[in-house]
Amino acid sequence: MIEIPKRIRNLTPYVAGKTIAEVKRRYNVDTISKLASNENRLGCSPNVHQSVVKALEEIQDYPDPLAYELRLELAKRNGVNESEIIVAAGSESILSILCRSLLSKSNNIVTADATFVGIYVQGGVMGAEIKKVPVTSGYEFDTEAMLEAVDHNTKMIYIANPNNPSGTYIGKDEYASFIDRVPDHVLVVADEAYFEYARHVENYPHALNYRRENVIVTRTFSKGYGLAGFRIGYAIAHNDLISQLLKCKLTFEPTTLAQAAALAAVRDDEFLEKSVSLVAKEREKLRLFFDDNGVEYVPSISNSVMMVCNSEKKAGQITQAMLEKGVILRQLNAFGLPHCVRITIGTEQEMNHFKKSFVAIRNS
Ligand SMILES: *Cc1c(COP(=O)(O)O)cnc(C)c1O
Repeated sequence: MIEIPKRIRNLTPYVAGKTIAEVKRRYNVDTISKLASNENRLGCSPNVHQSVVKALEEIQDYPDPLAYELRLELAKRNGVNESEIIVAAGSESILSILCRSLLSKSNNIVTADATFVGIYVQGGVMGAEIKKVPVTSGYEFDTEAMLEAVDHNTKMIYIANPNNPSGTYIGKDEYASFIDRVPDHVLVVADEAYFEYARHVENYPHALNYRRENVIVTRTFSKGYGLAGFRIGYAIAHNDLISQLLKCKLTFEPTTLAQAAALAAVRDDEFLEKSVSLVAKEREKLRLFFDDNGVEYVPSISNSVMMVCNSEKKAGQITQAMLEKGVILRQLNAFGLPHCVRITIGTEQEMNHFKKSFVAIRNS
């Protein structure tokens, strides 16, 4: 028997939400609303198809390891130099690259106890301690307590802004004061997976406006751009850090097709705007629905809303009963909030399916 290191044997893996095919197989429902994984329910830009088909002509060749064209486009759009950008197979891959290149066993990562599970897993693979600082009673990052948790072995502070699963965000003043007090030896990982949904919110701090040598901003094409299946994301940081991270990236990620898809997607401002405004509209309608029905929830600026139940049991019952109606939701056990359920904001039709089913299970 191969001896497996303890850090791997004891690792809790990331468990993905259920797929549509899985639910169709198990339950006898014909309409499925997949509101469990924060994907873009409108799909992606219609220009992606053609761009990907064109890229198929070069599929026998290895991908461009630096994603030259995409990197150039992202540099232009974000007002930074190409040398400050790394493109990889999703922001989860970027977290993995960060953990592989920076962490040794004695290091720790400071983050919250209710945030994106990917950081717990990737840090855990390297045997780093994950210091999970409890979120506030409003399910927000407790930046003061996080700063207090930093010690001389801390290598990173991970913050998702807006956070997943709560959809809450750290405002401008708090963010500035926090960034100013993070010691120089600690890398701030500013995960902006939901940036596209949040960027127009008045008090939302764009992490790029608070750049330091010890800050890296990660973004993804999986959410607003609707390319989760392609696996592509990027990060922006000081060019020295980026050049070191590039050495640790799997050379040929992301694939040629993913690069082509992302390039088409990022150039389609109209589709992005349509996606973002649909989410804003349906999120507001859901808020009114929850208020009318006396449901407790957390105000969100991302493309999901978290419902707060009285108990883990209740959250489990709701998730299961909704699943049997064809509405896939996410109970948040893995995120440290077993009494909460996350609902991705979908199309009007999907949200109506959610509401109708929710009323039905409540009355049954
Ligand atoms: C969805 C999500 C990601 C994952 O992004 P990929 O680019 O698909 O790997 C990263 N961070 C947060 C906070 C997320 O919610």
